[in-house]
Parts: sequence; structure tokens; C-alpha cells
Amino acid sequence: MIYTSGFKVVRSKKKDGNMVSPGDLQNQINRLSFLKGVGAPPGRVYIRPEQGGEVQLADSGDAKFCQDGAVRCDALIAREKGVVMVLLLADCPSLILYLPEYHVRVWHDYRMVEVKSGARLAHIYLGRGPLEQNIIENTLNVLLPVDNRNLACTVNAVLVSGIGLCCYRFDEEVYQRILREHWSHLEPDADGKYTIDLANEARQRLRDSGVMSFNQLGECTCCSGEYFSHKRAKAGKKEFQGRHLVACWLL
Ligand SMILES: [Zn+2]
Repeated sequence: MIYTSGFKVVRSKKKDGNMVSPGDLQNQINRLSFLKGVGAPPGRVYIRPEQGGEVQLADSGDAKFCQDGAVRCDALIAREKGVVMVLLLADCPSLILYLPEYHVRVWHDYRMVEVKSGARLAHIYLGRGPLEQNIIENTLNVLLPVDNRNLACTVNAVLVSGIGLCCYRFDEEVYQRILREHWSHLEPDADGKYTIDLANEARQRLRDSGVMSFNQLGECTCCSGEYFSHKRAKAGKKEFQGRHLVACWLL
């Protein structure tokens, strides 16, 4: 859990229970009691990842809500305080981008006046697919005001770790079949494996877009026994795959 001046980020652990399966009563109780315990406001919006590059506004009437109240997208942006944006994750990292309030100059009654614009917060599902579909760049396009793109330098990025480069490795066959198109810069290691470093990829893309402030929270979900991990469950040939929860909101 981190507190900053303008927003809050929380992540549940395995001990807080499985947070997945909308409709399952125990999962719902786990989500509600965790969010209540960390003091999350009651306005909650769940992100239903689409593995693409689509960005939606959490507090807009245009958001594409599913029947269970989740929004289909890979990044959600809130402009209002108290809108809690929730992702249910196993190994994928989540990226939070905070744009502090800023001032804009506008003409009013034949003179220039300064107007304050409120802070904005984005929550991004940072799977491999959305990264390949430029989800970071697409989110910044919506987060930053059209006429003031250089505000990117004021954005504060927080990456909540998922699977780390220690565990996100692929053999030659998988690389050739699904990775080569977007990850042609990868080189095999001594074991012939290809490693994807999602955190570093995100950091580089942010830097290229002018976002310099980057913080990373938490350890690899696969190595650590404290979080749910698809990869670890698969390696142990276990059927059960739960999810933990990452949530953020403007203060
Ligand atoms: Zn690891």
C-alpha cells in the first residue's frame, strides 16, 4: 500500500483471499472486506481486460459497462475523487499514472485568466498484449490535455509488480510462434530462453513519452508465495488459479 499526496494504491495478498469469479459469494465478500479494510470509497469500477489497447473514462456515461458492472478495456481513467479503479490480477503488472492538478490559461471577457484543472488518475492492465498494442501511449493521449502534452513531465508513474524478469521466460518455439513480431529485439540467454521484462519495457515507453518519474512496488508474483500466480499454478500442475486485487483512487 502506498500513500502519496494525491492518490492511493493498494494490493491484496493471498492471505486476503481469492478475489476472482464475479458472482461467487465468497470472492465478493473477500473483495468487499479488503477494500473496506483499506478505506476505499464506495464508488468502485472493475476493469475487465480485453488484451488490447483501449482506454475508457471511469466517470463518463460512455464507459462500456458489462452486465456485472465491469468496464471492458485495458486502461481506465478517473477525473473524480473517490472513484476506485480495480483490477483482478495473477501475474500481470498494473501501471498507475497520476497527473496532478494543473493550471491552464483561457480567454474570458477579452482577457487571459488562469483556470485550475483537477488531477487525473489512470489504471492500466499491463499485460504483454496491451503493451504490444501501445496501451501506455494511448492512455497518455487521453490523460494529458490536448493542448499541453508537455505536462507528461509532471506525471507520476507507479508500477505494481507482476511476474518479474526472473520468471517471465519463453522457449524458442513460443518465441518464434507468438513473440517475434513485437519482441524481435530479444536475445536468447545461455539456456536458449527469451526473457520479457514488462517493468523495464513500461519504463522505457514512459520515458519516450516524457514521463520520468517511475516507481516500482512489490516483488515478482511468481517467485513470491504471497500472491496468486498463473505461472506458478501451471508449473505445479494445479487447476486452481486465484487472483489478487490492485486498486487506486484519487484523494
Ligand atoms: Zn520471479
